[in-house]
Amino acid sequence: MAKILCVLYDDPVDGMPSSYPRGDLPTIERYPDGQALPTPRAIDFKPGELLGCVSGELGLREYLEGAGHRLVVTSDKDGPDSEFERELVDSDVVISQPFWPGYLTAERIAKARNLKLAITAGIGSDHVDLQAAIDKGITVAEVTYCNSISVAEHVVMMILSLVRNYLPSHEWVLKGGWNIADCAARSYDVEGMHVGTVAAGRIGSAVLRRLKPFDMHLHYFDRHRLPADVEQELGVEWHDSVEDMVRLCDVVTINCPLHPETDNLFDSAMIGRMKRGAYLVNTARGKIVDRDAVAAALESGQLAGYAGDVWFPQPAPRDHPWRTMPNHGMTPHISGTSLSAQARYAAGTREILECFFDGRPIRDEYLIVEGGRLAGTGAHSYSPGDATGGSEEAQRFKADSTA
Ligand code: NDP
Repeated sequence: MAKILCVLYDDPVDGMPSSYPRGDLPTIERYPDGQALPTPRAIDFKPGELLGCVSGELGLREYLEGAGHRLVVTSDKDGPDSEFERELVDSDVVISQPFWPGYLTAERIAKARNLKLAITAGIGSDHVDLQAAIDKGITVAEVTYCNSISVAEHVVMMILSLVRNYLPSHEWVLKGGWNIADCAARSYDVEGMHVGTVAAGRIGSAVLRRLKPFDMHLHYFDRHRLPADVEQELGVEWHDSVEDMVRLCDVVTINCPLHPETDNLFDSAMIGRMKRGAYLVNTARGKIVDRDAVAAALESGQLAGYAGDVWFPQPAPRDHPWRTMPNHGMTPHISGTSLSAQARYAAGTREILECFFDGRPIRDEYLIVEGGRLAGTGAHSYSPGDATGGSEEAQRFKADSTA
């Protein structure tokens, strides 16, 4: 019997929905590069229902308890007195979502004497100290591609919202106004603008593909170049450094994982290299940008707008400056947890668990760390090391809520 500890976000404030706006989800046969969607033997949930919150349980309870395992689900994840930290001590498997990350720091990994597998129900395993997982021989796996397109859609939405000044214009409607000049004074067309993505992996290249019909000039930086025919088809220009790319761009979108190479990549010097009045959209990870440099650049006008859904730590403290800085379009971390995405990552989590308990290999594309080294997608997209430093600040959100 194994113990599975699952950290999920809280249920809706009014309880689980009794109905949903749509009756079904579209059928998607394969991901754009041909990769197969998750293939668990079975699922015990209805796709389209909330699965990522505590009561949703990622649809795993029937399967796990039916196989004789113990499942503990909690949203109480931060601080030494949290249920997560108490239950971790004898857990064999930890499941966590990046939206509400159960930070697995080296200290926590050292306490988790039975831990063998850390599953990210989603994409992005930077909430795990990957170096500690490497050193301790813990397998880290994520559900690669499950929500890459969900995020790409969110990026396009945020670029259009910022450049066209959507959110402040909507606010005028709510306030009972008809203030066209106030709305138009910050509103532009994206047509003809230069947009650059930091990384052209699954999300970055999907963003480029979606922006091409808007007649924008496309740019990218990545450690590995896209195939020449893809570059040609998209008409996208590769740059050999982020610095070189950002000085040309009206809009920059960040789509690389967080790891030691990308931690704090957009500091005040990098933001200072951007065109004055550029827009920055970050749905990758909050820690890739310097929190205070972003707020200062919005105040000074160096950035005309900033949007994204990733913060550090998560949940962000109530007094986080991004909640109140000017010209921002932040959301809580939601882009990868649409109901459509949840169905895919819940199924992918089940597939990984089935492989683990059957003693079958986990798909290479899902692997981040295995056998004491970066493996699979991890070997391609990450660098070894730790990016969890500072995550203990997440407990301030809970402390502020109960104060
Ligand atoms: P992929 O692995 O497909 O793409 C990541 C890309 O980043 C790869 O092309 C990789 O390059 C590139 N990369 C890695 N390091 C660097 C670097 N130092 N500089 C430039 N590029 C780099 O992942 P996805 O596109 O699916 O996801 C990307 C990230 O987006 C995730 O790691 C996660 O942090 C975030 N994400 C956010 C979500 C949300 O809900 N907001 C949901 C899903 C993901 P190469 O492999 O060529 O070296």
